[in-house]
Amino acid sequence: MRDVHASAAVPLPVTDYRDRVAALLPTTPVVPLPALDCVGLVLGEDVVSPVSLPPFDNSAMDGYAVRSVDVADAAADAEVALPVTEDIPAGRTDVVVLMPGTAHRIMTGAPVPPGADAIVKVEDTDGGEHRVTVRASAAPGTHIRRTGEDVREGATVLRAGTVLSSPQLGLAAAIGRAELSVHRPVRVLILSTGSELVAPGEPLLYGQIYESNSVLLAAAVREIGGAATVLRFVPDDVAAFHAAIAEHVGKVDLLVTSGGVSAGAYEVVKDALTGQGVEFVRVAVQPGGPQGSGRFGELPVVTLPGNPVSAALSFELFLRPALLAAMGHRDVDRRRVRVRTAAELRSPAGRAQYRRGRLAGDTVAPVGGPGSHLLASFAASDCLIEVPPDATLIAEGDLVDVLVIGREP
Ligand code: AMP
Ligand code: MG
Repeated sequence: MRDVHASAAVPLPVTDYRDRVAALLPTTPVVPLPALDCVGLVLGEDVVSPVSLPPFDNSAMDGYAVRSVDVADAAADAEVALPVTEDIPAGRTDVVVLMPGTAHRIMTGAPVPPGADAIVKVEDTDGGEHRVTVRASAAPGTHIRRTGEDVREGATVLRAGTVLSSPQLGLAAAIGRAELSVHRPVRVLILSTGSELVAPGEPLLYGQIYESNSVLLAAAVREIGGAATVLRFVPDDVAAFHAAIAEHVGKVDLLVTSGGVSAGAYEVVKDALTGQGVEFVRVAVQPGGPQGSGRFGELPVVTLPGNPVSAALSFELFLRPALLAAMGHRDVDRRRVRVRTAAELRSPAGRAQYRRGRLAGDTVAPVGGPGSHLLASFAASDCLIEVPPDATLIAEGDLVDVLVIGREP
């Protein structure tokens, strides 16, 4: 059967196109990486602890290791004096046995000597180095952190599929792991096209603008744990376009382009990739209608429109979930809330419109207009208001769906 969406007449629903983009990317392989390179990545193994935590009974306080019976009668008005026969700082690795009727000075984290069953904290003593006066009793077990209290040797402490952040990475280090097996970052090559584009920092002539999409898109890739390489921009020239990507084929998992996919002349991406495995379609979305995706040879390609907010929104709707899924994430969707709009919204029929907004309690205030060049309002927003394809007018106070994009401008 003929694919109706292949004709430009019927735009593809957002969800269909999202699935199409996601299908381009296989899950990245699981590789060992140093723990600190795993921030935000997804664990690809169950992590079993080879040690107990704590690995040995140790002191929770600076003080004195004693036999509880030797200080059972100690009180403020009935001090007990004991000879101090050892000093055990944290890190002492030899085993010293506590003899009855004596005390060892001990520091937090140091091993509790065999023979001792309680720690008297230094505040309940005179702090003596050779002889200590104890002013309080200590029941058996007082201020002792027991072996395996936190983690038992052989226990599974982290499960495959866990998104790694600082607490999990700290735990991995605590059980002695220098590396973890994770889904490696997806490698994205970002290429902006447009002969009008100038690198930030350079002088700008009349008719030129600063190139911003590559920074926005690369930052968005990195924010979710991906690796982005930026090919800043290529002019609207097919030969230059092919030359620019040639050296990266085989080294990246995905090529993302911006610009050059609309209906005008000089649409370099369209010209270079039409008939080369990339299909150009219209998606029923505003902004970001003109889209392209497919495989150029082996290389998955997603071509985004050039207007900055279109490119950003396309990333948000199509690339973000696909890249997260490729890196092993199960939860790839933004949080959705239903709130009241603080202003009327008008939207074209037949297209899902995403407006920039700011959430305040149970209302959302639209920020700026629907224009796809309004990058400052996008940067000032913390959510996207989703106006469904069948809605053309949403009155002030009506309920709308909002995607929380998770930043505080
Ligand atoms: P295009 O999709 O190439 O027709 O571009 C649409 C609009 O977005 C034009 O106004 C371009 O100048 C602008 N644009 C395209 N690419 C970029 C970019 N990388 N950075 C900033 N603006 C861009
Ligand atoms: Mg262009």
